[in-house]
Amino acid sequence: MRERSKQAQAIRKLLEEAAGPMSANELWSASQENGIGIATIYRALKRGVEAGELCEANLPGSPTRYEPAGRTHHHHFLCSECHRAIDLHGCVPGLEAILPPQFTLTDHEILLFGLCADCSPAS
Ligand SMILES: [Zn+2]
Ligand SMILES: [Zn+2]
Repeated sequence: MRERSKQAQAIRKLLEEAAGPMSANELWSASQENGIGIATIYRALKRGVEAGELCEANLPGSPTRYEPAGRTHHHHFLCSECHRAIDLHGCVPGLEAILPPQFTLTDHEILLFGLCADCSPAS
């Protein structure tokens, strides 16, 4: 297998096993031991999106993150301390209730902010 596709696969694996979507920089920090350069990561992410294997997750106020395509409907939690994004499984029913009359809801995004377990004060 060519070096390039091996690296793309390593990045893909990191994203599949991650607790949530990761930015190029986060992937770079996480793949130090593989010796993958930041430019390679950007290229692999771009190719992954073009090939429909990866999706962009754009969370307000933070760099573009990436996750494997085809995940079921989910939302994200952003830690205000360590800035990690974590997948939240499940959804919030009854969002239609806050719509003005005659409005039709077609989609939604929910982003929760707070502290992850590592950053929460020890109880
Ligand atoms: Zn945190
Ligand atoms: Zn939802």
